[in-house]
Amino acid sequence: MSIERTRPPHGGHGERGITVLLRRMHDAVAQEGSAQERLDHLTRAIASHVVADVCSIYLRRPDDDLELYSTEGLNREAVHLTRLKWGEGLVGLVAQNSRPLVTADAPLHPAFSYRPETGEDPLQSFLGVPLIRSGKVLGVLVIQNKAARSYTDEEVEAVQAVATLLAEISASGELLSQEETAEVGEMLHRPEKLKGFGIVSGVAFGKAVFLEAPAPKHKVFARNVAAEAERLEDGLTRLRASVDDMLSSNAGLSGVSRDVLEAYRLFAYDRGWKDRLRAAVFSGLTAESAVEQVRGENRARLMQAGDSYLRERLYDLDDLSNRLLRLLSGDDDGKRRGAHDEAVLVARTMGPAQLLEYGRDALKGLVLAEMSETSHAAIVARALKIPMVTGLHDAVERAEEGDQIIVDGDAGEVHIRPSPEIAEDYRRKQRSQNERRAIYLSERSLPSVTRDGVGVSLMMNAGLVLDMPSLHETGGEGVGLFRTELQFLIGERLPSVASQQALYREVLDAADGKPVVFRTADIGGDKTAAYMDGWRESNPAMGWRGLRMAMDRPGMIRPQLRALLSAAAERTLHIMFPLVTLASELDEARNLLDREIERARKRGRPLPQTISIGAMIETPSAAWRADIIARKVDFLSIGGNDLAQFYFAADRDSERVQRRYDPMNPGFLSFLKMTVDKAEAARAPLAYCGEQAADLVTAAALIGLGVRRFSVPASTVGPFRRLVRSVSSAELAAWLAPRLDQPAPSLREGFAAHLREKGAALE
Ligand code: PEP
Ligand code: MG
Repeated sequence: MSIERTRPPHGGHGERGITVLLRRMHDAVAQEGSAQERLDHLTRAIASHVVADVCSIYLRRPDDDLELYSTEGLNREAVHLTRLKWGEGLVGLVAQNSRPLVTADAPLHPAFSYRPETGEDPLQSFLGVPLIRSGKVLGVLVIQNKAARSYTDEEVEAVQAVATLLAEISASGELLSQEETAEVGEMLHRPEKLKGFGIVSGVAFGKAVFLEAPAPKHKVFARNVAAEAERLEDGLTRLRASVDDMLSSNAGLSGVSRDVLEAYRLFAYDRGWKDRLRAAVFSGLTAESAVEQVRGENRARLMQAGDSYLRERLYDLDDLSNRLLRLLSGDDDGKRRGAHDEAVLVARTMGPAQLLEYGRDALKGLVLAEMSETSHAAIVARALKIPMVTGLHDAVERAEEGDQIIVDGDAGEVHIRPSPEIAEDYRRKQRSQNERRAIYLSERSLPSVTRDGVGVSLMMNAGLVLDMPSLHETGGEGVGLFRTELQFLIGERLPSVASQQALYREVLDAADGKPVVFRTADIGGDKTAAYMDGWRESNPAMGWRGLRMAMDRPGMIRPQLRALLSAAAERTLHIMFPLVTLASELDEARNLLDREIERARKRGRPLPQTISIGAMIETPSAAWRADIIARKVDFLSIGGNDLAQFYFAADRDSERVQRRYDPMNPGFLSFLKMTVDKAEAARAPLAYCGEQAADLVTAAALIGLGVRRFSVPASTVGPFRRLVRSVSSAELAAWLAPRLDQPAPSLREGFAAHLREKGAALE
């Protein structure tokens, strides 16, 4: 079939054409007459403008059927008669997918549904665009032509612009009857459940507050360039003063959060940013337009880079740009939008400084579109214990300011305008969480011993000074894994020895005599810092990272060892090396440490009383040789996150494969058992610090395999202690032993049933 190029739907009028059409639509809506007559005027205006044989408007009814409400070109008798189910026919498909659909061969499309009453037989070309408001499909606008023709991207975009306006009009009450408008309103305000990723656990109730103030209106072109440059200069001065002010008022924050803020401040003073803003003003733009233009350029550049560190910089820059825009518009104190004690902040992205400005008391929860677990805002939110869910790209569209909202940071769910039943469920969940927390707190001094008298040592994982109060709240025996790399990832350059030392000392002081195992910086792989640009690899998880990088770049690890030695002077120092592959690598690491000890001695610096060295078992090669590695160190720690990724050859960061293989796989469990046995044969203490132990069924299996020391996220310490006290390690071992050579993909179900039957505490 030949594709005949007819005139484009908006007659090639370009942008001016659209303006004319919008004016016609406005006139049609303003006409006297019944709602139906005005709607028909509107349809006619669109049809004649886009040169379509048919233009139809289908609206969504409360039962989700799509009803033909108006048409120009189809049989008029079909209006209010033709109804399509959600997902039925091409129209239903557009609604269901909430995406435009374009075809030059409508009758051949697999979803085509023939409706004789409409008389659409000879229509070949179809362009359907959803009418979307607040993220919800309210109907479908359809353009059809008799000839087989393909609509261009421009045409689709133009019809989309019309559809957006139509959606606005349907919701506004200007077009439909009062009753129908009310129905649309109800549709828009239905309860919504959005699924994302839980980043900071806990349940929060509150009312939606949007981070972004509506952009202040401003002119695009300036009359007086010199005056505009002065306004810009003044705005920048005030911006810097406000950032300095914020830093000094948060002086109590130490460790990484402070580094985050320092990085942010560097941007406020960045010469390159200022120069580009000035250049834009000198090209004739107002100061506000200059800020927006430079922000646009930055976004385009950084988004293309796709690197998580660069994205972080983008959020900082966006944050600064917004602040500058508000200052330019004279809104000095509008920094904190809508903070009240019930606020749940909804935003696409957020800078760490903005979050600190709200603080713990002004925010109940956070709903963000694009933040990762290691983003600066997430780090601060975790420290402030504000439940947070991310990955919700349409939360901003779907919620309205003031809507009731529930954030479930554990399940990664957000409920907008929850039904009373859902709200009650969550109140119950929150109550039981609080009750459980109180129980864990009251049990924190109870011995962590199984029913058959086996002691299981419980420590917690940490990475910030702000994590440390949890050590005493949970009654953890120490920090079994302190991830030091966070400090390395945030700054503009390698952290100085002095700043590392200050952080480690603060952590040790906060631990108050309890042991802290400092893991040397595990950077490289996906954890790249600003100063590592150009070190990118195609397979970073298996690339230049951890101990490998430390060996090749002693200039990085030696200052860290120096800082650790001096921070732990006169105390016990536990150092652990990540991603050990061969036993010989530990000789090299030890050698570097010895050189630092020697250096300190020569300078008469005080040294730790005891130094205990550990190796992480995170590669199958290290697990296979655990006994040999054990002889070179004082303790071992299984990093199950990495070990599982290499055992299953499944990237732990890949959405597609990270949950594909269960650590309860009997093969993996038997591999762990081999490692545990080898460590035991070498009489080396062995801990497990992978995140898998936060799952209590897996934790019980690990106890059954003979693991006697764990380091888990702080929130898991309480439930873990209860679990330990409720099980018999001999019974666990007896259940597992004969099943480790089973071919089943997972032992989870059977083991969980066994645990329940035996009354194990799994909550
Ligand atoms: C691990 O790999 O299990 C581990 C604890 O280290 P990280 O998660 O920091 O890589
Ligand atoms: Mg690891």
